[in-house]
Amino acid sequence: MSNKYDVVVIGAGPAGYVAAIRCAQLGLKTACVDKWLNENNKPSLGGTCLNVGCIPSKVLLESSELFELASNGIAEHGVEIKNAKLNLSAMMQRKQKVVSELTQGISGLFKSNGVTAYEGHGRLQAKNNIEVTGHDGKAQTLEAAHVILASGSRPMEIPSAPLDGEFIVDSSAALSFESVPERLGIIGGGVIGLELGSVWRRLGAEVILLEAQDEFLTMADSQIAKEGLKLFTKQGLDIRLGARVVACEVKKGKVEIEYQQKDETCHEKVDKLIVAVGRCPNTDELVSPDAELILDEWGVVHVDEHCCTSLPNVYAIGDIVRGPMLAHKGSEEGIMVAERIAEHHAEVNYDLIPSVIYTSPEIAWTGKTEQALKTEGIEYKTGMFPFAASGRARALGDTSGMVKVLADAKTDRVLGVHMIGPHCSELVAQAVIAMEFGASSEDLAVTMFAHPTLSEAVHEAALDVSNSAIHIARKRK
Ligand code: FAD
Ligand code: AMP
Repeated sequence: MSNKYDVVVIGAGPAGYVAAIRCAQLGLKTACVDKWLNENNKPSLGGTCLNVGCIPSKVLLESSELFELASNGIAEHGVEIKNAKLNLSAMMQRKQKVVSELTQGISGLFKSNGVTAYEGHGRLQAKNNIEVTGHDGKAQTLEAAHVILASGSRPMEIPSAPLDGEFIVDSSAALSFESVPERLGIIGGGVIGLELGSVWRRLGAEVILLEAQDEFLTMADSQIAKEGLKLFTKQGLDIRLGARVVACEVKKGKVEIEYQQKDETCHEKVDKLIVAVGRCPNTDELVSPDAELILDEWGVVHVDEHCCTSLPNVYAIGDIVRGPMLAHKGSEEGIMVAERIAEHHAEVNYDLIPSVIYTSPEIAWTGKTEQALKTEGIEYKTGMFPFAASGRARALGDTSGMVKVLADAKTDRVLGVHMIGPHCSELVAQAVIAMEFGASSEDLAVTMFAHPTLSEAVHEAALDVSNSAIHIARKRK
């Protein structure tokens, strides 16, 4: 088999595997190199997302929510379950089964699309040659007309909480605890910290979340974040803001944490500690020095809006480039790059990346937050609708939260949609579609939504922009 390709992709996460499949669909001879080995030391495509990220975390969020509901959540529906019992090992086995089915699915997609998979470490050399070192140590060189770098990211480590793999762990290990810790500490109140905290709290752990920033979820709309903080605290997550962890030590099977909060030195003792302080790009062993790729001080690959790097015909996508570290953002970049290699027109709309936090209730948004509009001096109108006024939310028994629509004061164009409540991860797509087509709040308001659905909350929030929501009390003029 010739080692010459139109495109070689390094990394088979959601950025790389999607790019490889689209390249092959467009008739380009494509290879994808990936080095991931699963817990059985077997190659496993899909990167962080499928192996230790989006998918296993959502499986556990779903399972733990069912456990919590079975334990104490559905009696009000008239369904009584006596002595619901947790079988953690079965829960973990199910998670692993979902992961294996999906990762094997990517192998199948590669085969059916004609993408050649190489197992091992890929390294870009000068002149777009890629050295692939297999898991057996044997090396071979691939020649590529175009190279797509998609090597993803790994959990960030901090000196104040050195990982030991048993008591102080990263997000990957926290998806595979063999028992429920009695007291669980989490450093970092970002998306990953909140999702993992929710899983283990629902399964019975007492969760203490230490977040260095004084404000909660600064990237979200501040009104939604405030609502989230109130609801998560009520659920029992002990969220301590302005709490910077400065030292940790494992003593007699417990983790002793020292943190600074408002000039005070505080202490906490937990059974396990998850470090969820962000992720850093996998770019240290990606490129040989003679390839002269420009990276910033954090190892992020410098790219333009079309993901072109400083090297001709070398692109970079996903978690190794600027922007939020989200699977769908990397996948869209992968498709854009594949299309552009095939000389088609393609862009990514970076203004409309949906963000979701899969807590219960879920938080989701797209476009600008209210605080950003204020900072940018853009005049806007607001429409809001609480799920408490939604018939469907009442039927579900899940009425917390609201949808908020922000529209330009002059043009009425929708500038941002923010929500916290049931199934918001699904509802946010409506906002993205509407905004992608340049919708005004009136466009959403005159659109018909099925009844009774949670989507009606989006409709009513859009109606509320012009004070014409039907199912909430009329605002005084
Ligand atoms: P990755 O998925 O990291 O894949 C990169 C691949 O490249 C890996 O297989 C790696 O082994 C391989 N590789 C690296 N270097 C080389 C090399 N030199 N040679 C060969 N192979 C190499 N995002 C969401 O959008 N939604 C979510 O719900 C969500 N939940 C998450 C939950 C958790 C717990 C975590 C940790 C992350 C979550 N994310 C979520 C983030 C998401 O997983 C990442 O943004 C996404 O996986 C990045 O995709 P990627 O393709 O850039 O990189
Ligand atoms: P994210 O980047 O969304 O995954 O969130 C990571 C969070 O960890 C951020 O909100 C940081 O403020 C927080 N963080 C980083 N270092 C520390 C620390 N030493 N103590 C507490 N929180 C931290």
